[in-house]
Amino acid sequence: MSGKILVLDPSTTHRILLKVRLQSVGFDVIGCASSEDAKIALAEGKPDLLIAAMGTGYPAIREFCAAFRLGSETSHIPILAFGASDKRKRTDWLTAGADDALDQSTSDAHLFARIRSLLRMHTGERPLGFVTERALGFSEHSDGFGRPARVLILTHIPIRARALVQALETGGRFIVSCLDPAQPFPQNAPPPDVLLIDARGGQDPLGQGKALRLITELRSRADTRSAEQLVITPEDGSAIAALALDLGASDTVSGDASHDEITLRIGKLHYRKQKLERLRATLRNGVEAALTDPLTGLHNRRYAEPHIQAIAEHARENATTYAILAIDVDHFKRINDTYGHAVGDQALVSIAALLKQGTRSNDLVARFGGEEFVVVMPEADLKSAEAMAERLRDRIESTPIYAELAGGAIGMTVSIGVALGGTLGDRLSSPLERADAALYRSKLAGRNMVSVSALAS
Ligand code: GH3
Ligand code: MG
Ligand code: MG
Repeated sequence: MSGKILVLDPSTTHRILLKVRLQSVGFDVIGCASSEDAKIALAEGKPDLLIAAMGTGYPAIREFCAAFRLGSETSHIPILAFGASDKRKRTDWLTAGADDALDQSTSDAHLFARIRSLLRMHTGERPLGFVTERALGFSEHSDGFGRPARVLILTHIPIRARALVQALETGGRFIVSCLDPAQPFPQNAPPPDVLLIDARGGQDPLGQGKALRLITELRSRADTRSAEQLVITPEDGSAIAALALDLGASDTVSGDASHDEITLRIGKLHYRKQKLERLRATLRNGVEAALTDPLTGLHNRRYAEPHIQAIAEHARENATTYAILAIDVDHFKRINDTYGHAVGDQALVSIAALLKQGTRSNDLVARFGGEEFVVVMPEADLKSAEAMAERLRDRIESTPIYAELAGGAIGMTVSIGVALGGTLGDRLSSPLERADAALYRSKLAGRNMVSVSALAS
């Protein structure tokens, strides 16, 4: 796996050693001696991962993490603090904002597996990276808890389960439960946010292997698929950590870790899960807003055009036809001029509702602009399309719109042009253009009528 890694370490020897180590497995590495150097390097191109190593002191890491998290273009880049001499340092660095902190003694296999997992995480989240944490309502990295995390501890050793439950429950940030993985999962329980998988082994010689198998098993279960996984490895368990990360665990923690460190790591994973959920919802809402007409709630032209293309393709593949109705309100300008723009708006909303009510559920009703609407009927022939157009025209003519601002009911009419798609005629001009031409004829012929495209008849 390739990736661009920025290594920050004031010690030239250590920096070069780490650089060579990383380059030997194909990573693209930029070395920086200070935060200032790193800022210059950042301006030249964004890395996929930052490693703050060895000699970078705690204040520098703290300052750097804070700057990284605030920058809209860097807030999503993972930070790995590498080279801790003891477990207290790991906790300090995690508190400072690093996504992970690894010991100096970490094996190559473990280090590379962790880098790969952080890069995977970054690649997956990059498309969402432009939405800053601030914009989502998170004020600070790793401390923006919306609700307590639901943590499920998976261990077959009751004494460990008790100790972890006790430690994690204090502070009230987690709702903790535990389960012996050999037992069936409880039905209908709320899905956990973070799974704490104990892979330290025990009396059972196969214990570690069983715990590792859980990683993939839990990813395939509907109720645990989206949970983050934190795997507790034995103290000397670099090989197990590497395996767990390559199998898809979100993070690992050494068996010697303090409860504070485990709490911090769970907090970070929960934060990440919430952030991703919120980013996805924001994108979904944004996309929906971009494709919906705010006045009538109908789809807009930007949504409708590719949708029409898809319907056309389906018709071609299945040798069927589809119909397009181009609809324009008659003398709409007069409504605005006589009663004002607000009444005009109300009339548009009413017409949109009449169109929606009068069509089938798989017909597309869109507002193309101003007082122009389009109805697309998949799998329709010309006869049924013409009948539908006539019904819609009649429905609008016979349903006056009551507008309080206008002091009573206003009658409205529409002109409609109908064209068939999925025929040979498509090659000459698009069904939408032909429907428009037919609509124009309806206008010329006196309005409040339906015309059918000659090409399709
Ligand atoms: P015709 O029968 O030939 O279609 O005449 P018309 O008056 O309907 O057509 P014209 O294109 O001359 O006028 C359309 C009017 O629709 C002009 C524009 O101000 C108005 N309009 C466009 N969008 C909106 C809107 O969102 N709200 C309101 N109230 N009016 C709108
Ligand atoms: Mg018009
Ligand atoms: Mg009009």
